Amino acid sequence: MSDTDPSLPGQLFIVTAPSGAGKSSLIAALLKQDPRVRLSVSHTTRAPRLGEVEGQDYHFVSPAAFLALRTENQFLEWAEVYGNFYGTTRQSLEDLQNQGFDVILEIDWQGARQVRQLYPESLGVFILPPSLETLRNRLQGRGKDDPATIEMRLSLAQDDLSHENEFEYAIINADFDEALRDLAAILRAARCRRACQYPRYASLLTR
Ligand code: GDP
Ligand code: ADP
Ligand code: 5GP
Repeated sequence: MSDTDPSLPGQLFIVTAPSGAGKSSLIAALLKQDPRVRLSVSHTTRAPRLGEVEGQDYHFVSPAAFLALRTENQFLEWAEVYGNFYGTTRQSLEDLQNQGFDVILEIDWQGARQVRQLYPESLGVFILPPSLETLRNRLQGRGKDDPATIEMRLSLAQDDLSHENEFEYAIINADFDEALRDLAAILRAARCRRACQYPRYASLLTR
C-alpha cells in the first residue's frame, strides 16, 4: 500500500452506529493495519470512561468550553448525543487532510448529515449489530457505562438504526474479523475510484 503524499487530497469517511455496535473497536483495529487513514479526534462534554485518554479518544471539555468553541465557529459539525455534546473541529479534519491522510469521522447520524452537506463526496458507513439483544450484551460486556446510561443508549438505538438508509455502506458486525475486512475493503475500493487514482497516476490515466 503506497504512502501518503501531502500534495494529494485524502478521502473522507463517516462511520456511524448505535452505541455498542463496535465502531470504536473496528476503527481502532483498522488504524493499526492501515497507515493511510487517521481518525479525527472529537471534542465531547461526556466524562472520560475508565481507560480513555485525553487527546486520543476525545478532547474532554466542560460544557462552557464546548460552547465557547461553538460560538467561535470552530466546529465543522456538532450534535447533542445521549445527553452530551460532541463535535468535530475544522482544525482536526484539516490538520489530517493537509498531511494527505484519508480521514474517518466517528460521529452520530446528526453530525453525518451536516458533514454530507459540506462534503457531498464523503462516504458514509453504518455499522449495525446483528440484533438488539447483542447490542445490550455488548454494552453491558464493555462494562464502561453505568446501568442507567446503558438503558438510555439502548432506548435510543432503534432511532439510531432508523437512519442506516442515509449511508452508502452497511456493515453487520456479527463476526469482528469479517466486519473489519468489510471496513478495510470499503476504503480499498474507494481508493481505486478513478477520481482518487488520477492525481497519483496522471501519466497512466486520462482525466
Ligand atoms: P459509543 O458510541 O458507545 O462509542 O459512545 P461515545 O460516547 O464515544 O459516542 C457517543 C455518540 O457521539 C456516538 O453516536 C458518536 O458517533 C457520537 N460522536 C462522537 N464524536 C462525535 C463528533 O465529533 N460529532 C458528532 N456529531 N458526534 C460524535
Ligand atoms: P461503539 O464504539 O460502537 O460504542 P465498541 O467498539 O466500544 O462500540 O464495542 C462495544 C463492545 O462490544 C466492546 O466491548 C467490544 O469489545 C465488543 N465488540 C465489538 N465488536 C464485537 C463483535 N463482533 N463480537 C463481539 N464483541 C464485539
Ligand atoms: P460515546 O459517548 O459512547 O463515546 O459516543 C456516543 C456517540 O457519540 C457515538 O455514537 C459517537 O459516534 C458519537 N460521537 C462521538 N464524537 C462525535 C462527534 O464529534 N460528533 C458527533 N456528531 N457525534 C459524535
